Amino acid sequence: MQIKLAGPLQSDSIVDGEGIRTVIWTQGCSHNCKGCHNPETHDFNKGISVDVEDIKKQIMETRNQDGVTLSGGDPLYQIDASLEIAKFCKEKDLNVWCYTGFTFEQLMDMSYRNQKIKDLLNNLDVLVDGKFEENKRSLNLHFKGSENQRVLDVKKSLEKGTPVEIERYKLQKKYQSYSNFDNICKGIYI
Ligand code: SF4
Repeated sequence: MQIKLAGPLQSDSIVDGEGIRTVIWTQGCSHNCKGCHNPETHDFNKGISVDVEDIKKQIMETRNQDGVTLSGGDPLYQIDASLEIAKFCKEKDLNVWCYTGFTFEQLMDMSYRNQKIKDLLNNLDVLVDGKFEENKRSLNLHFKGSENQRVLDVKKSLEKGTPVEIERYKLQKKYQSYSNFDNICKGIYI
């Protein structure tokens, strides 16, 4: 099975989910969010085709990673390959995050017609859902670009049948570094 990627796997990311992660940048997205930071990943005819078995091998060869993040593009447009990779990661006890422009509610609706979407959700730990909305953009958010997006605990969301956000990521980031800077300016080192 092949997957279309926008580029090579990226290891050691600290901005695409919790901890140190390997990111899989999938190619292809139709959400067309205004202000998208990765417009080069939209075209389904571009990117590079990679065998999913090679991806698995690279994941296993990459050391000191806390988990794997499916991003893009939108990994949901390549459901077979994304499911295969997520299943493999769970078998290897790796934590899996996935970014998508679809909402959890849309995916649940779609899963009635396509069981693979439900299977993918069952193999994710965290889903960051929803389109990027430029007028709700903020730099103070954890692992998401705009305030409408949600960092969801997938297991709890599936159990409850409704999106359950991870509490600590609902909050705005604290400017600890700035307060440290203030204190350094005052001659107090903390
Ligand atoms: S879902 Fe992501 S990649 Fe797709 S258009 Fe929106 S921001 Fe860009």
